[in-house]
Amino acid sequence: MSGALAGKRALVTGVANERSLAWQIAERFFREGAEIGLSYQGARQERRARRLAQGVAAAFVAPCDVSQDAEIAALFETVERHWPQFDILIHAIAFADAAALQGKLIAVEREAFRQALDISVYSLLALVRQAQSLLRGRRASVLTLSYHGARKVVPDYHLMGIAKAALEAAVRYLAAELGREGIRVNAVSAGPVKTLSAAVLPRFQDKLDLAAARAPLGELSDGADVAALAAFLCGPDALHMTGGTHYVDSGLHVLGA
Ligand code: NAD
Repeated sequence: MSGALAGKRALVTGVANERSLAWQIAERFFREGAEIGLSYQGARQERRARRLAQGVAAAFVAPCDVSQDAEIAALFETVERHWPQFDILIHAIAFADAAALQGKLIAVEREAFRQALDISVYSLLALVRQAQSLLRGRRASVLTLSYHGARKVVPDYHLMGIAKAALEAAVRYLAAELGREGIRVNAVSAGPVKTLSAAVLPRFQDKLDLAAARAPLGELSDGADVAALAAFLCGPDALHMTGGTHYVDSGLHVLGA
């Protein structure tokens, strides 16, 4: 198949439904010629993930709850069964307890903090560790998804903001560690998009409306924008880009008061 990602194999994590940014990326990568493997969180998502997988002729679709080391290991057994090596790892996974986000940051308890950082940040390290030997020497690309709440205070985003700040730091450190192995690591910082996990944020629709009103470009970015930037960063035109967090948010991140 022709396209910027022809001949590439991409493992895409974090597909919950059609709205998932991971799904938009999987579809775009498929259109660009990549072979796709999908992972989903658990039994509740299996049917939908398997149905979606047909739309991108996925080589495999496998469960992986990233809070469980055994499930990460099992995912990579599946990956290795299908692909002796692969080229692209998409990490599109985040979680914070909804109740913790409803309250104030100062009230967040140790377990909610641990869980948010574990699932949203440590999972990147855990997945890359398993993927490393399969990506090595392939001019490979790891991509994760962040949000501007990592850098500036966004109402109600507090715990996730801390997780995203750590995630963006992890991207820089991983990029430095893995560059000589031919593995690039980047993040896309996306503007707000109505997805399953975004909708959990308090007053998310109000935030979307406000963002749309304030965005320098006069309209919001969407999942297709995220997927297009992801395809660029994982493709042949970005071979010397690593360690960065790249915005696609209609310019929202440049605004002050
Ligand atoms: P989504 O709900 O579709 O995707 C989140 C995914 O994380 C789901 O597939 C869910 O199953 C997965 N996940 C959560 N806990 C997991 C676990 N323990 N094991 C495995 N998977 C687990 O929402 P989305 O908006 O597409 O989120 C994808 C990424 O994009 C997240 O990192 C999110 O923070 C980021 N992001 C989203 C927005 C937005 O406005 N939607 C903006 C910037 C960044």
